[in-house]
Amino acid sequence: MDIIVLRPDATEEALRHLVKKLESKGLRTNVSRGTERTIVGVIGDTSKVTEEEEDAIRVMTGVENVMRIIKPYKLASREFKSDNTIIEVRARAIGGKKIQVIAGPCSVENKTMLLSIAEEVKNAGATFIRGGAYKPRTSPYAFQGLGEEGLQYLVDAREKSGLPVVTELMDPRDLDVMLKYTDIIQIGARNMQNFRLLLEVGSVKKPVLLKRGLSCTVKEWLMSAEYIMSKGNHEVILCERGIRTFETATRNTLDLSAVPVLKNLTHLPVIVDPSHGVGKWDLVAPMAKAAVAAGADGLLIEVHSNPEEAMSDGEQSLKPHDFRRLMEELKPIAAAVGREI
Ligand code: PEP
Ligand code: MN
Repeated sequence: MDIIVLRPDATEEALRHLVKKLESKGLRTNVSRGTERTIVGVIGDTSKVTEEEEDAIRVMTGVENVMRIIKPYKLASREFKSDNTIIEVRARAIGGKKIQVIAGPCSVENKTMLLSIAEEVKNAGATFIRGGAYKPRTSPYAFQGLGEEGLQYLVDAREKSGLPVVTELMDPRDLDVMLKYTDIIQIGARNMQNFRLLLEVGSVKKPVLLKRGLSCTVKEWLMSAEYIMSKGNHEVILCERGIRTFETATRNTLDLSAVPVLKNLTHLPVIVDPSHGVGKWDLVAPMAKAAVAAGADGLLIEVHSNPEEAMSDGEQSLKPHDFRRLMEELKPIAAAVGREI
């Protein structure tokens, strides 16, 4: 027994009684009130609930149906919540009609550069500023990021441009510092299965942007989202950023089919990062357009004013004027699929 569907006319009293009953069995609950139905998700070791106990719950007042989910994730599943999750961040709704665009450099390099990029992407229509202050670099000798100083520059950019901040957390030891600055915590591809880190960000009240692991299946990815949600943080945004395949023409293979696949399996918002997906700036625009056409709720795009001099990912960064053109070209595509940008 994992999900209990209530009858449309179930009273608050019946719900309270049911929750108490489940708690008396050492289980926790998560109540999700949809437009048509209220659903009670049961959290904990539900395998210990006997068939007799399950039958007793089935006949309780207000209960319509009791179901078991065979999937290894529950809170993230569409069965658990049929309505799309919309995550509000400083008056921006991620997962709503408007496509949210997170843009900015790969790494925060200095204050002047970040403030000028923030201004440019904002004027072009971006809705969030991004930039890494803690960078997951493959080589230990490559630029590792400015740390807290970089976080401060992101906040300066937010104050000047009004754009909320997205930045990556790599180590739970930096979580408290990060919470003071960022609006959304990014968990990078390399940490998608860092389960201790996932549990830590699951315990705070801050939306999490969870990137897909380099070699992870959609199912593994949803189980990672479940790790975060199981701790009480249900504000998870999934970000497809390309996976490793035998193909070498692009940095990764952007799996755009993951977008409609996820839309069937989960209620969580899904965004696409074509920059890391393809690794080459001239391939970013066509894949960004395809992502919007495929139903993505948002995009994450790397933008740099001088890509040749960038301290990381210059080859995949758009110059501000190319980003501006892309934002214009995305408008009719968004409209064609019933969205706005
Ligand atoms: C990034 O967003 O700059 C980044 C490092 O992404 P990923 O974790 O997808 O490689
Ligand atoms: Mn990058």
